[in-house]
Amino acid sequence: MPVDRNAPASERIAPVIEGLEEAYPEASIALRFITPLECVVATVLSAQSTDVKVNEVTETLFVKYRGPEDYLKVPEEELQEDIHATGFFRQKTRALRGLSQKLLDDFDGEVPGTIAELIQLPGVARKTANVVQSNCFPDALTKDPDAGIVVDTHVGRLAVRLGLTDHGPKDAEKVETDLQGLVPKMQWPRISYLLIDHGRTICLAKKPLCADCPIEPLCPSSQEAELPDLYRVAMDRIKSKKKK
Ligand code: SF4
Repeated sequence: MPVDRNAPASERIAPVIEGLEEAYPEASIALRFITPLECVVATVLSAQSTDVKVNEVTETLFVKYRGPEDYLKVPEEELQEDIHATGFFRQKTRALRGLSQKLLDDFDGEVPGTIAELIQLPGVARKTANVVQSNCFPDALTKDPDAGIVVDTHVGRLAVRLGLTDHGPKDAEKVETDLQGLVPKMQWPRISYLLIDHGRTICLAKKPLCADCPIEPLCPSSQEAELPDLYRVAMDRIKSKKKK
């Protein structure tokens, strides 16, 4: 019998990944970069910004700033100006200069590959570290006991809708742990980008397009099947808790 939406998450995860792979074979990170340093910088700049805006800014930024020393050589105001369009430019400038200094002081100017080392860099939290490791150090990921799954707003929302976590969409670290328990480690980098592409195109936050969804028979939040949207339910619970 084929697995359907009523099966436990542990049985649905493989066909969910398969369905998303078929629908989004090109799924990958939307930020543009070549070196690990560019990946760190682009990911730091992407906070509270869009990938399109960050790519616009980094197109010229990465020509001017090639190594960590370049982010320290210019006056702070000049770097602020260069990244201004991505928003929160003062905070991001502090992070870029802080992480550049740390790379020069402790890592011979090279971006390290383990999560434990990456999160030592100022402005680099677990999500950024996961992005950098999965894109730039895939071999380190397989051996690193701290390796993880990138959980952004789309991944959090879809994990809840698909019943892949018992936690809320904003509990990024708990959602990450639940996904780690379901998804084979080799597929950790893929699952994020598959869910992000699906969240951007079909499983939209306000109104998911369930009639067009390739994994609809596997989804316990399907509007086609007139089921309650588990994401909406979780968000309403968060809102009513805040009111109390
Ligand atoms: S059926 Fe609807 S809610 Fe479920 S994953 Fe597809 S688009 Fe999202």
